[in-house]
Amino acid sequence: MDYINFAFLILSSGFFLFLSVSSIYEKEKRASLISFLFALIMAPLWGGLIILNSTPVIRIINLTILSFAFIILVISLIKYFPKKPLPNIEKITQFDERDHMFSRMSMQKFPDNSEKYYKLNPDMEAVDKKIAKDPNLGDPGAKFYDKYYSPIVNSAFTLLERTSEIRSGKTSINKNNLDVNEVSKTIRWMANYYGAIEIGITELKEHHLYSHHGRHEKNWGDPVTNKHKYGIVIVVKMDQDMIGQAPSLPVLLESAKQYVESAKIAHLVAEYIRELGYDAVSHIDGNYEILAVPMAKDAGLGEIGRMGILIHRKLGPSVRLSAVTTDMPLPPSDLKDEHIEEFCNICKKCAVNCPTGSVPKEDKPANRNFEHWSIDQQSCYSYWRKSGTDCGFCIRVCPYTKKDTFIHRIIRAYISRNPVNQRIALIMDDIFYGRKFRLKTQDDQKKFFKVSR
Ligand code: SF4
Ligand code: SF4
Repeated sequence: MDYINFAFLILSSGFFLFLSVSSIYEKEKRASLISFLFALIMAPLWGGLIILNSTPVIRIINLTILSFAFIILVISLIKYFPKKPLPNIEKITQFDERDHMFSRMSMQKFPDNSEKYYKLNPDMEAVDKKIAKDPNLGDPGAKFYDKYYSPIVNSAFTLLERTSEIRSGKTSINKNNLDVNEVSKTIRWMANYYGAIEIGITELKEHHLYSHHGRHEKNWGDPVTNKHKYGIVIVVKMDQDMIGQAPSLPVLLESAKQYVESAKIAHLVAEYIRELGYDAVSHIDGNYEILAVPMAKDAGLGEIGRMGILIHRKLGPSVRLSAVTTDMPLPPSDLKDEHIEEFCNICKKCAVNCPTGSVPKEDKPANRNFEHWSIDQQSCYSYWRKSGTDCGFCIRVCPYTKKDTFIHRIIRAYISRNPVNQRIALIMDDIFYGRKFRLKTQDDQKKFFKVSR
């Protein structure tokens, strides 16, 4: 028994020490301190059992602890989740881009369109007009506005809008005899080379496309006519230190930066495919014909979490997406179920911490004929306009928002095995990282910019 106790002493102390060091690298002070304390507790616990287990009472306690640890260890290896019903994709209705909060805000500048829209949706008029009175993201008057940093956001979005001209282009006439598997590998390499974390490929389904355009005056209300059969979703990573400043301005600066990065890669990939003789169109922030989140899920990149956005397999919600649609018959990526949705069922950290209560606490409702979570766009976006940032506090608090370190890979693999592991992981996450988080203030923002200059 002493050998087993000794093995547990080394393994448990080693694990918590490693977590403590890894948390220093991640700048997670609380997690580092608590794991260090856990590592300290392990030594007297197992050491005491080794020294004292000659007494019968201690032997019984020791046996009980070892049996319990052994049962937990065996359970942690079991791979089992109850089967989830698959959505009937034939029945899913398309989302109309005109209903999107951003579209409803840009529509305020075009009275003809808004008149048509509010005739059909009278309930939304009062709330939209109220939100539109607050400053635009990046404009003066909002809580986290900064006269030096906020205009960076506007420059990024203006640049993005200018690049919308190059979303499509002429296809080369030299269609080479190409192996699509090799092309897919090359696109993957190319996307990584230019800064993507991962790409996923899927066959396009009807519900991946908006039904109608809604963001720009020129094609407002026109049906989306994209006839491509294949889609590539590009994932770029958001900087954890910037996300850690939520809901202050650094989050919006980071979002804007990563939208630019993801757009750059999407434009390049589309250009590359056209160079090979196939048609391709890039889809970037403000100029999507597709809904990147369900497309990313079907491309095997992750799952749709409680906050209604993609929870990437490795980086959680801390990512931004762009896409390319094409007629090149690229092989779809493998689907991997990491059971993130099951974790969202029990976690609810984003819902508990959202300052506006926009993230649902309830089970997934059926919306557009399939069950999925979506946030209250109005209350969330209203908060964005008042604060002058895109908030991101739900992203900040999510247990999946962790650096892709060795230790978090082990924990993610552990979470993906069964519901018991998920419960244990959630309790540990609450202990190590906390359940309720503090919103960053204007003073925090000032300090952050001062230090990061
Ligand atoms: S915070 Fe929890 S419930 Fe919310 S998306 Fe992340 S894992 Fe899911
Ligand atoms: S971005 Fe902020 S306001 Fe919106 S859902 Fe997330 S936490 Fe709530």
